[in-house]
Amino acid sequence: MRAVVFPRVGSVEVRDVPEPEPRPGWLIVEVGACGICGTDLHILAGEFPLATYPCIPGHEFAGTVVVVGTGIDGFTVGDRVGVMPSVFCGTCHFCRNGRANLCERGGGFGTSLPGGFAERVAVLPTHAYHLPDHLSFAEAAMIEPLACVVHGFHRLAPRAGQSYLVYGAGTMGLMLAQYARFAGGRTVALVDTNPIKLERAREFGFEILGVSYDDVRAVAPLGFDNVIEATGVTRVAEAAFDAVIRGGRLLLFGVCPPGEKAAYEAFRIYNSEIDVIGSMAVFDSYEPALEAMAAGAIDARRMVTHSFPLEAFPEALEVLRRGEAMKVQIVPSS
Ligand SMILES: [Zn+2]
Ligand SMILES: [Zn+2]
Repeated sequence: MRAVVFPRVGSVEVRDVPEPEPRPGWLIVEVGACGICGTDLHILAGEFPLATYPCIPGHEFAGTVVVVGTGIDGFTVGDRVGVMPSVFCGTCHFCRNGRANLCERGGGFGTSLPGGFAERVAVLPTHAYHLPDHLSFAEAAMIEPLACVVHGFHRLAPRAGQSYLVYGAGTMGLMLAQYARFAGGRTVALVDTNPIKLERAREFGFEILGVSYDDVRAVAPLGFDNVIEATGVTRVAEAAFDAVIRGGRLLLFGVCPPGEKAAYEAFRIYNSEIDVIGSMAVFDSYEPALEAMAAGAIDARRMVTHSFPLEAFPEALEVLRRGEAMKVQIVPSS
């Protein structure tokens, strides 16, 4: 079968690879759609410690079950499934204490195991979720990033009817903002320095927009209840702190470069009881994300701006790098 392979750091190939072997206890899924995300660029650049090379990347995927290994109940050939890609060891301190996404030996499909930029992929039935008929594979491949958003909201634990300010109107920022609206946000504001991204946010129905907190503070003069950093820029993570209301929360969702430090006024964290919260990947959030997607929380159809066949993976990467796309997906059967 054909697959995208990163044979080593910095190199991309689309080539023939052996079919995934049918094994007891495993499913084989024919990939319907698989999204490219920033993590794939990090894996290619050698900046993702969990990845092993050669790597078949792709962790945002959905497809059709084509082989059901012996000993599996609840799946039949032809089932449409979304795949939760993170695989946790189950035995480390974090797995045993309800924090499996912090697993010491974690990995997953598309990082340490073959992923979805391939015609077919072997997955564990524990990681395959049945899809409702009305969700397309393109939408279902957006469940994994939405599961990151839902995990962020589990960590943030907002109250109904609160205000939100999202820093960064990229793909994840727009998903966070849509989910904030879905979760009952009274006011949802977005800031970004890129006018194209702000214009796009407007098309998604967001009207409280600007390049900095100053532009949107009129709607929340005391600050925002929930401020979400989704740019991955340390300087922005620092500035976002100033937009938090007394008693409010700052969620660090974007992936800032390791080693960089943000300075926060310790007195203000104490005196204003500000929570600074981190959120990393997915934990117990794939199913709620699937349900939210099925309920229309996110306009996923509109977010998938580009889709390419497997053979065009290098071009797809270029489109992603140019920053003009929202979600770029690979459709192996196209
Ligand atoms: Zn991703
Ligand atoms: Zn573990």
